[in-house]
This record gives sequence, C-alpha cells and structure tokens, in this order.
Amino acid sequence: MASSVSSSAPDSAKRGLPLHTRIFIGLFAGLVLGLACNLLLPGDERVRWFVQNIAYPAGQIFLRLIFMVIIPLIFSALALGVADLGDVNRVGRIGLKTFLFTIVITGVSVLIGIALTNLVQPGIGIATSDRESLLNTLNANRQTVSGAISMAKESKTAIQTILDIIPRNPFVDMVGAFDPAYRGGGLLSVMFFALVFGAAIALSDRTRTQTLVGFLQGLNDVVMKIIDFAMRLAPYGVAGLMFSTTSQLGFQLIAVLSKYVLVVLGALAIHQFITYGLIVKFAAKRNPFEFFRDIQEVMLTAFSTSSSNATLPTSIRVTNEKLGVHPDITSFVLTIGSTANQNGSALFEGITVLFLAQFYGITLDFGQQLTVVLLSILAGVGTAGVPGASFPLLVVVMQSVGVPAEGIGIIIGVDRILDMSRTVVNVTGDIALATWVAASETDSPSRPPHLGGHFDAPSGAAIHTAIHPSVQPSKMAD
Ligand code: ASP
Repeated sequence: MASSVSSSAPDSAKRGLPLHTRIFIGLFAGLVLGLACNLLLPGDERVRWFVQNIAYPAGQIFLRLIFMVIIPLIFSALALGVADLGDVNRVGRIGLKTFLFTIVITGVSVLIGIALTNLVQPGIGIATSDRESLLNTLNANRQTVSGAISMAKESKTAIQTILDIIPRNPFVDMVGAFDPAYRGGGLLSVMFFALVFGAAIALSDRTRTQTLVGFLQGLNDVVMKIIDFAMRLAPYGVAGLMFSTTSQLGFQLIAVLSKYVLVVLGALAIHQFITYGLIVKFAAKRNPFEFFRDIQEVMLTAFSTSSSNATLPTSIRVTNEKLGVHPDITSFVLTIGSTANQNGSALFEGITVLFLAQFYGITLDFGQQLTVVLLSILAGVGTAGVPGASFPLLVVVMQSVGVPAEGIGIIIGVDRILDMSRTVVNVTGDIALATWVAASETDSPSRPPHLGGHFDAPSGAAIHTAIHPSVQPSKMAD
C-alpha cells in the first residue's frame, strides 16, 4: 500500500536528466568499460584491484543506503496499509471483495512468473569457473553467496517455515533479518508483525491511535526520503556493480540478461492478456477484446509514466465513461488498486528473485519458492504506484531466501522497460478488478448500475477519504 510513499524519480528528474536515463548511462558505462577490460585485459591484476577497491564498494554504498531503511520501511508501509484496509472493512463488503480478489489475482500473477522462470531458467548459463572467478574477486560477495548457498541447502520443512512466520520476538527477527545464517522467520516475521499491528490499529479507537498513525506516516515519509538520497547515487552504484560483473563475466552476462528481460515481458503478457482476459470474460462477463480496446488510453498512460498513481485520473475516467462501471466502485477499487493491487510488480519480483538465485548458482527448494511467492504477493501490496517502487521490496524478498542483494546491480540497468511494462499490467489489473467487483454487485453486470443494476455501496468520495486520508491528489500524480 504505502499510500504516503513518494518517489525518488520525479525529484531527481527535476534536475537535468531524468533518473532512469542517468541509471541507464551508468549501466552502459559500466557495461562497455567492463566488456572492454574483459576482452583487452583478461585476468589483469589492475582491473581486479579496481573492482575490489573502487567499483564494488561504490555499488555497496548505494545498496547499504537502501538496506539501512528496509526494516522501518516495511514496518511503516505495511502497518499503515492494513490500518487503511481496516477502514475498508468498515465500509462494507466491497472492501473485503477488493482485498480478496487482489490477493487471488496477485497470487496468480506471481505463479505465472515463477512457473515461466523455472521452465526457461534464464539465469543459468554462466560457466561455473567464471562465476568462481567473479566471486573470488568480490570477496565480500563470495561470503554472502556461499552463506546463502549453504543456507539454501539446510532448508527447513514447510511447516517450520510457516510457523516461523509468527515471531516470538519481532525485534530478534529484525536484527537477524539480513543475516544469512539466521534460522528464524526474519523479514517475513517482521511483515507478519506489521500486518497484525496495522490490523489492531484499524480495530482500535482512532482518536487514541491518531498519534501512533501520525508517527508511522512520518516514519514512512522519512524513510522514503532516505531512499531518495540513495537513488541519487544509483547511476554510480549501478556503473560500479555492472563493471564489477562484466569485467569478470564478459558477454555471457548480456546473453543471460536478455533472456531475463524476455521472460519478464513474456510473463507480463500472459498475465495481461490471458489472466485478465479470463477474468473479464467469466467474472466480469464482458467481451475481453472490447475491454482492451476501451482501455488503450490507460495502458498507454501507464506505459509512458511508469506510475500507477499518475495513471489514476485517466483510469478512473475511462473506467467510468467507457466501461460504464459505477463511479463509486471505480473510485474505491482503483484508488486502493493503484497502490495495493500491483500484479505486474509482484510478478516481476518473483521472477527476479528466482533469476538471480539461478545466476548465483543457488538452488531454491519448494519451501523457499513458496516463501518467494508469499513475499512477492505481500510486496505487491506494499509497492507504491510510482516509478522504481519495486526495488526496496525486491531486496526484502531476495534477502529472505538468501539471494545476495548485489544482484540488484545486474538488473536495475534494464529496469526502465520492465517498469513501464509492469505498470501497464498493474493498472489493467485494477480496472479488471473494478469490473469484477462491479459485476458481483449488480444484477446485470455488463450494464452500469444506474441503468438498472443494483448497487448499495457508500459514496466513492466518502470511502476515499475514509481509507486514504494520506493520499492527496498531488501525491497520486507523482
Ligand atoms: N512503477 C510501478 C507502478 O507504478 C511500481 C513498480 O513496480 O516499481 O505501478
């Protein structure tokens, strides 16, 4: 949900080149220089020295700045998100339906991504000796990876994994969250604690919890500001991480990365056209071809802005006017959906974690893949609707199954096109959800309720204020 989360990207865009362009330049510079060194100076000690002392530490500064705020980020974002959903429950069954449908379609999206990644195995293809030499060069990284590999080997039973989600002491889980040797629930337990905390806030008397909610909102804002600082360093961090990897792996990396991009785009396309097509046809009882034709404008806006929140005004207008969904349902479902129903982001996160595990030679067993599925669903709920919002939560999912966070440096450079594409899937999912909820609320689903359907939800504006006091129009248009 993270309704009060703002993005780093628009801030940075105000000064000169937009952030994604600078990240791309960083990626390109690191890639070209790394490939040149790999071709012209193979095994050169000076290159190795440069990687160990300059390039890799530059990447680490960027990553650590993100790491240091992950615990307060997930705690405040999820607790606030659920506190808002509590209000949703109060306004009736529409809230409950929206919540349940969101979990179901996000779950389907993650499963599609995981299945395709297991099938295609895009991360396989780096020669073991090259990977060894990469890990030898990045000594610190090697420890993380070997720790992760042994952790993956000593995997827990499924029932123990589930039990560990409920923390005995959430502070112990917070402390152990980034330790590969920690055997408790870690971040998953912290998330569970945050969810229960948020639910309890929702059920408590608002006048008495106001200060607490204000504190959590302030915490969330401050954390996002720190991520903003970190993202300003992203172009340099990415250049450093990219150079470190390509100078050791050469062209193998490009081949692997291209396969990864194709798998993400393929899975997004399957979810966009098959899952949503089926929902629209069978649950919303509409013609899927007409549905996609009618929402073209929304898809284009999402693609060009990479932001579900910025697309919200267009989605609301098109869903009301072209699809004829009742405005109350539209504003309610789409407002929540633009931050909580992020199917494309969840799918992307699941694929990326599996891809990077394959890349680093870490085998994730069934229990660990299940953890990835559950965490990606939660991450989809926790991802804000702004460009690049997936990254902090992606690190969370990676960390919980022992995939090294350095992997971010490998994929962040190609993220712009993936972000644009997953945002299309995110907003289409919100509209499909709205038509589904509308159909379940009306006698004659394909007809707008004011033309004869039955509908008795509270007014959209009232619900909006009740559930999203923190989302102001200016924030939505980030
Ligand atoms: N850009 C996405 C959105 O706004 C979020 C993300 O996955 O980064 O929906």
